[in-house]
Amino acid sequence: MAKSQCDAFDDLEGYCRILGHHLRFSYCRSCQEGFPCFKILDCWFEKFDVRKFVEENFTAAEIEQFLRPPKPKMQTLMTLIQQAQKRMKDR
Ligand code: SF4
Repeated sequence: MAKSQCDAFDDLEGYCRILGHHLRFSYCRSCQEGFPCFKILDCWFEKFDVRKFVEENFTAAEIEQFLRPPKPKMQTLMTLIQQAQKRMKDR
């Protein structure tokens, strides 16, 4: 991502319904280990062309990855248990 393009909207502020307070776009575009929040398109489309921002700064594969909603914690836990059981079986 080119620095000049990616930080152009960093100072815009919005209310985050997940965290319950206002924050800057700089957080939203990088809060998933450097990639945007999965809600970025929903939260910012009224303030600027966030879809264009995303398409210009990330690859199609990256976009598909970070727009995927996070798995519920219980589902993640079950998946980890199943993977561990499979590893034990395969030994
Ligand atoms: S994009 Fe994510 S972190 Fe940013 S305001 Fe929306 S829900 Fe909150």
